[in-house]
Amino acid sequence: MIKKCPVCGLKFNTRQNGVIYCSTECKIKNRQKRDREKCSSKKQKSNLVELNAQAREMGLTYGKLQAMKYAQEHRLEV
Ligand SMILES: [Zn+2]
Repeated sequence: MIKKCPVCGLKFNTRQNGVIYCSTECKIKNRQKRDREKCSSKKQKSNLVELNAQAREMGLTYGKLQAMKYAQEHRLEV
């Protein structure tokens, strides 16, 4: 059957039913694109919420916690 690759738009011939992309390259490209979108929107937000909750638990503001973390990391490196 003839299918159209959603990544590059190429029409390709396949005998397998579950094949969506024309090549492994396009499959990876699509996954990377999705992963990037997930990372930039979801991950950053949840991380911030988590840090805010952590700061509240310790009775600190978010800025103070960040400063503390930075100091800890800095000391570890030295
Ligand atoms: Zn393709």
